[in-house]
Amino acid sequence: MRRRRRNRSKLRRPNPIMIVISIGLVAAVAALVFLRNPTPQQKSVETSKNRALVVQAQKPQSLQDSDRTTQGSQTLSATVIGALPHSLRRITSREKAKLLSALSARLLIWKVDLRRGLRRGDKIKMVYRPVSKQSKYQIEAMTYKSLKHGKIFRFYRFKPRGQKFAVYYDEKGRSVEQYLEDSPMRTYEQVTSILKMRPKHKGVDFKAPQGTKIYMPWRGRVISKNWNVRYNGYCLKVEFTNKRWRGNRVHALFLHLHKIMPNIRRGRIIAAGAPIAEVGNTGRSTAAHLHYQTQTPRGRIIDPYRLHNTYRRNLPGRHAESFQRQRRSLDRILKQAKASPHNNRVVRGDDQDDD
Ligand SMILES: [Zn+2]
Repeated sequence: MRRRRRNRSKLRRPNPIMIVISIGLVAAVAALVFLRNPTPQQKSVETSKNRALVVQAQKPQSLQDSDRTTQGSQTLSATVIGALPHSLRRITSREKAKLLSALSARLLIWKVDLRRGLRRGDKIKMVYRPVSKQSKYQIEAMTYKSLKHGKIFRFYRFKPRGQKFAVYYDEKGRSVEQYLEDSPMRTYEQVTSILKMRPKHKGVDFKAPQGTKIYMPWRGRVISKNWNVRYNGYCLKVEFTNKRWRGNRVHALFLHLHKIMPNIRRGRIIAAGAPIAEVGNTGRSTAAHLHYQTQTPRGRIIDPYRLHNTYRRNLPGRHAESFQRQRRSLDRILKQAKASPHNNRVVRGDDQDDD
């Protein structure tokens, strides 16, 4: 994928005068480069970091990669050979590969660029179990060994006692997800879509039960309500009127609402933090969530994760012990999903295949 994209951009480069003469020259140079180094695109800044990494040999993949039941949980271990669904498809059913790769993408997106950051030879392992929810499965723990980053990312699902939703934490108890300051949502289950994940989708989706309150992020004016209800469902558009952006106006859209608070009328100024609506599943939506979209008045999309300040949450100290206990037991299960060590070999950075 990467190679193709680069070639395309090379072709686009204008060279109007010399074009005919240089075609021969370029071809000769390209052939030379190719002979010296069959995969020139591998030479990235990251490769030096990868030199000492031990990765699974490519050939006996079918022996290492697995999808099986271990200690009552299901474990999966796969070598990345391309996009995630494709990589998982080789060891499990098409539907399951699709569902599990969507769930793992929601976690990975916070650590790795899913379009450019995955490498052939990366390893993904997870402990998961079937659930009766729409997603059908739930990931309990996951590790992702990234050649690009030269490290293993770890994700553990944990629900601290007394809290409504489970959160995914890293091994140190820091939240995987980032949170928005001045967020329209105070409690929600998970962010299921951010701009980096689906570039054509224009907002951030917060999964939360119907009726969950939505708050005004900053002081602003209500611009419109309930347009194109067939697609947007009940919806609201506001313009922030604070001085935060040096006089530049920013619009925010809230879609698929269950209801809008009665005092939220066109033209009204609403204070920061005031409740404005409730999460719903109206319009083109398959599950209760808030679609939160921020943009310029002319409609140029702004990533809410750039507009807002962001932070990660630390697991409160009183939960640390039970979290670490659960993490250790999940680590033991993950270990059993591990491939046998005799297939390992040391791969030098230069030998790596870039997908
Ligand atoms: Zn959305």
